[in-house]
Amino acid sequence: MTEQIKHHLTDSLLMAYSAGSLPEAFNLTIAAHVSMCDECRARLGAFDSLGGALVEGSESVEMSAGSLEAVMERLKAPERPAEKPIYSNGIVPAPLRDYIGGDLDAVRWKSIGMGVKQAILPTSRDATARLLFIPAGAAVPDHGHRGTELTLVLKGSFADEVDHFGPGDIEVANEDLNHTPVADIGEDCICLAATDAPLKFKGLIPRLAQPFLRI
Ligand code: ZN
Ligand code: ZN
Repeated sequence: MTEQIKHHLTDSLLMAYSAGSLPEAFNLTIAAHVSMCDECRARLGAFDSLGGALVEGSESVEMSAGSLEAVMERLKAPERPAEKPIYSNGIVPAPLRDYIGGDLDAVRWKSIGMGVKQAILPTSRDATARLLFIPAGAAVPDHGHRGTELTLVLKGSFADEVDHFGPGDIEVANEDLNHTPVADIGEDCICLAATDAPLKFKGLIPRLAQPFLRI
C-alpha cells in the first residue's frame, strides 16, 4: 500500500491532528490515511513527540494564563481513533471500521443521483464525514469549496483537474480549488471524504438537492 501512495497529508494538518484541534470527521479521515501510510505515520510521530516535549517543558517554567489554557485544552482533547493496525481485512482501514460497524458490506448507502451514493458517518456535527461510491466512469458534479475537503481513496481511483488519485491517496482541497472528480473506467471508486463547510455546486440540480444530502 505505502509504496503506491503519492498524495499525502500536509504538515499543518498533521500538526493540528497531533494537537487534537480538529473536528472528529477530519480526525477519522486523517487516522485512516495514517493507518495506510508509513510516511505520514513517521511524520506524525515527530509532531507527537514535539508536542509532548512542549507540554513537559512548559511545566518547569512559569506559564501565562493563556498557555495554561492551551495545555488544559490539549489534555481535554478527544481521544484519537487508533491509527493501527494497518488493515483488519478487506479495504476498510481499522479506524473506519468502528464507524461503519464492519466492512463495506455493512455500509447503508443512499443514492445522491447519477449513480453516486453516499453514507454519512456518525461524527460530531462541526464537520461531516461520508463514504462516497462513484461508479466506474461517473463524476461527482463540478464544485468548489467553502472550507477544507479531505478525500481519501479506499478503492478504485479518480482523476480531477489536480491529478490522479489511487488507493491510499488523500486529496486536500480548499477555497482555491474547483474540481470535477471522475472515477476511472474499469473499477467503481469508494472514498472517505470529510468537509467542514457545504460545497459550492455550479449546477442547479445539485444545489437544490444539497441541503437534503448535507453535502
Ligand atoms: Zn501519507
Ligand atoms: Zn471537492
